[in-house]
Amino acid sequence: MNFTVANPTGLCFGVRRAIERLELALRENESVYATGNPIHNPQEVERLAKLGLKVMASVSEIPDGAAAFIRAHGVSRREYGELKEKCREVIDGTCPFVRHVHKRAEELDREGYKIVILGDLDHPEVKGILGHIDGEALIVKSENRINLRERCGRIGILSQTTQTEAALAALASKFVFLTEELRVYNTICRATVKRQESVKKLAESVDAVVVVGGRNSANTRALVEISRSSGLDVAWIEHAGELDEGWLRDKDKIGVAAGGSTPDWLVNDLIAKLLRL
Ligand code: SF4
Repeated sequence: MNFTVANPTGLCFGVRRAIERLELALRENESVYATGNPIHNPQEVERLAKLGLKVMASVSEIPDGAAAFIRAHGVSRREYGELKEKCREVIDGTCPFVRHVHKRAEELDREGYKIVILGDLDHPEVKGILGHIDGEALIVKSENRINLRERCGRIGILSQTTQTEAALAALASKFVFLTEELRVYNTICRATVKRQESVKKLAESVDAVVVVGGRNSANTRALVEISRSSGLDVAWIEHAGELDEGWLRDKDKIGVAAGGSTPDWLVNDLIAKLLRL
């Protein structure tokens, strides 16, 4: 059996940058408080918790004067203000690409556009974007959910960074016929697109794919779905210990891929295990 690792794969720029900032803060502080998990990967959260990370449900649970961390998904203006007021230090890990979406949302809002966001209402990144808008905003998962009968005024479209370009194009096409004026910003992050394209390419030359990443990670799930839709057998594991050696036995060529929130050490553990077999 031989194996090929997708390229690029694994940790994206924004999450890597945020985790590096968090690690630095954990070296300087006994505890660092975050609202929500800093990364969609249970093993990495466990490792960071051993270094002093405390994950809280809301800002109100963070002790006064503590050091606080903002994850790559970013937060609303209100939450940022609350953290600044309450905490001694705020380590801001907001990804610059997410910050760019905040700026576009503020700009459209200021100029009086009704904002449409392609994304998932429950996702923290979308909640953060909404928290930068004072006016009206509509969140849609796909153009199929749009059911407007009357033409609307000025519409500004933005996207959660991890959506697909095909979905954004379909949404924009629908609104072209429904608005007097349409402004569309492609705020999709290329890191996600590139990881999905690399798995599609890998799937053409292997018998099966091992995807390593958190089961709570949407971008890891997307890689699993892309591999499955190519007709391949897929093993979705969170760490090398979950890889069933019996499953590998009848396979000649294995592809390896990791979600954008999978740390390097989990990918390296998997590669070391495959090299031993
Ligand atoms: S997927 Fe893109 S936008 Fe999201 S954290 Fe990573 S680099 Fe930033």
